[in-house]
Amino acid sequence: MQKVPIWRQIQRENFTSISSLLDFLEIEEKSQIDADPRFVLNLPRRLAEKIQKNTLNDPILRQFVPLVDEKTVAPGFVMDPVGDKTFCKTGKILQKYRGRALILTTSACAMHCRFCFRQNFPYETQVTGFEEEIAFLEKDLTIEEVILSGGDPLSLSDQSITTLFARLDAISHIKRIRFHTRFPIGIPERINDSFLNLLKNCRKSIYFVIHCNHPLELDDEVIASLKKIQKLGIPVLSQSVLLKEVNDREGVLFELFQKMVNCGIVPYYLHQLDLVEGTQHFLVSDIRAHALIQYLQENLSGYAVPRLVREIAGRKSKTRICL
Ligand code: SF4
Repeated sequence: MQKVPIWRQIQRENFTSISSLLDFLEIEEKSQIDADPRFVLNLPRRLAEKIQKNTLNDPILRQFVPLVDEKTVAPGFVMDPVGDKTFCKTGKILQKYRGRALILTTSACAMHCRFCFRQNFPYETQVTGFEEEIAFLEKDLTIEEVILSGGDPLSLSDQSITTLFARLDAISHIKRIRFHTRFPIGIPERINDSFLNLLKNCRKSIYFVIHCNHPLELDDEVIASLKKIQKLGIPVLSQSVLLKEVNDREGVLFELFQKMVNCGIVPYYLHQLDLVEGTQHFLVSDIRAHALIQYLQENLSGYAVPRLVREIAGRKSKTRICL
């Protein structure tokens, strides 16, 4: 019988029941909790263990707990704010920018972030396998970089990633493969020898981009797992989302980006919130966002300050926010 990898066993311990999570966190005040959310709860136990007990006012918890605020209808907040559906070239390929194509490798994630811009994506219409995607990539000679996204590409088995790598390896005009993942933040055990080996054996240049929003997410185990990737000569970058009452304070962002550069992680983007239905309680104004970036610029090395951007559907690149 095939052995189940340790990270899959750990993933099974994720909190998916709201009542179990509230009991674990000893939360007494439950009136703000949405007990029946459309986007279900999914929170790795190791992240739950970092959350302060008996309060909803915790920067990790706020990113994952469904609140009744999500039911509020706010103007401008829509199901697909970044126009993903418009840019589908195949069931699983999105192409928005020149030279790059993104594969929605899976619908599965290590965790469910309440502000996720892809939480309403119709993954159920996708067929299994990547035949159509490979055929598309083979034909378009302008594509140099393939972004593996989802969901989270590290939800795929190593066997599936190896098979996909082999197909991409065979396409000569593809030079780079980029991972977009939040998996190491929740389940750093995923960066195991087998995964490292498949990275090592890939002939394309690899870039590894994590999604990390708060300094508490970057603990010693997470950093150690990312170091293993860096040791292979693979650059590790980070994207963060600016979120009200999670990381919208000078000190929090300073600590986050300082911690990153101390570990050799390059802060790449700080995203303004994508206006997904039910996420208005996370919105930080552009004026405040700009003030935060200015503070970082005055207090950190230039390379430690990410670009403040937002995605506007139809534009040829992310849009820098400058006031
Ligand atoms: S891990 Fe990424 S794709 Fe998954 S829910 Fe969070 S933001 Fe969305």
